Amino acid sequence: MTPPPNAPTNDSAERVIADLRELAALTSTPAGAQRLAWGPVWRTARDWFRKKLSEIKLAPVADAAGNNWITIPGASDKTVILGSHLDSVPNGGWLDGTLGIVTALEALRRYSGGSKPPVTLKLVDWADEEGARFGRSLLGSSAAAASLKLDEIRPLTDAQGGRIEDILRENGVELNSMLDAHQSLKSINAKAYLEFHIEQGGVLESMNKSAGVVLGTFGLQRYMVRFVGQAAHAGATPIAMRKDAFLAAASTALECREIARRYSKPGAGVVCTTGVVKVEPGIVTAVPGVAEISIDQRALDAKILASMVHEAQGASRRFAEENNVTVEWRHLFRIEPRPFDPQLLQLCEESVREITGDAPKLPSGPLHDAAEMVPHMPVVMMFTYSSRGLSHCKEEDTPEDHLQKAIRAFLLLVDKTVAYVASN
Ligand SMILES: [Zn+2]
Repeated sequence: MTPPPNAPTNDSAERVIADLRELAALTSTPAGAQRLAWGPVWRTARDWFRKKLSEIKLAPVADAAGNNWITIPGASDKTVILGSHLDSVPNGGWLDGTLGIVTALEALRRYSGGSKPPVTLKLVDWADEEGARFGRSLLGSSAAAASLKLDEIRPLTDAQGGRIEDILRENGVELNSMLDAHQSLKSINAKAYLEFHIEQGGVLESMNKSAGVVLGTFGLQRYMVRFVGQAAHAGATPIAMRKDAFLAAASTALECREIARRYSKPGAGVVCTTGVVKVEPGIVTAVPGVAEISIDQRALDAKILASMVHEAQGASRRFAEENNVTVEWRHLFRIEPRPFDPQLLQLCEESVREITGDAPKLPSGPLHDAAEMVPHMPVVMMFTYSSRGLSHCKEEDTPEDHLQKAIRAFLLLVDKTVAYVASN
């Protein structure tokens, strides 16, 4: 059996950064990256990537959803998949998605050319991760995961009125057969899925850490909560006689923050947000008779998320009673938490610690293609530092020394995962 390549070097990291700068120069304007999925600049990015692959005698094969797969066959058909995306939002950054793809390319370089690696390696460039054109994120990966509902996407159009079915066809994808991508995924003897991404938030920067171990992607519960009391004159109505719907809503929003604080532990934060507040009649001289707020709660642990919702509902009833109003909850949206694989988390932790001296753990607020793979195979992600926590904009950046360390840590994770899968 082939020994794993030598430890990842700075040369590898510098090659990745040079490739990323080349791709950015090719696919950006002064306003930022323009690799909008299914458009000409995205296709340019994919052509660039195809050329890079041909230098190491590899070529992509598209599945039925337009995801590009690149394979290095191993001594065993047990497979380690490295995934990310080349598409960007309009006026996006140079690292979102591309960092994962270009680092995975370097991983393939390290395993190509010599004798067969002990296990099969695959790189997948997911199509339309961002959903920036039709509003449906994770399009290609959800087709591969068979969680995509074709009837939900069929009516979608882009800002110019282009129908999704037509635009996909221009790119060689038949909407009605997209879910065949699931058969392709199922035919792989997948033992691990690894994804490398910028954090897109400010946690690693606040700790001055190059890389972090991602525990999973947040689950989410979102509701509209409506309080109904009685509108009344702001001068004539004594405090004790009021049915003030806004005060009940405001107390509930504040209590939701306390609930989030109570359930947050180091490395296992939870969040909640009240982003919508509607008050009626909405004039300065009336006690609010109706107040409606949104409550969006997120956590990595399904039980904790359920408790957070339960406690928020209890608090809203308490505040409704105190303010002499009624309260009703209307469910809007939910996403299941997707915790990552314990064994791969361990390998990720070792890799980050060996290169950077420490291994901070954090959940992912944003969803990623990795979340779609969780029901189908063991998954882990690694994050790197995002300057000022900024992403989806031209300011998106990572200081080069942090970027180099994180790239080396991810390449080490690939080596450790290959060795682990080969021996299990
Ligand atoms: Zn991304």
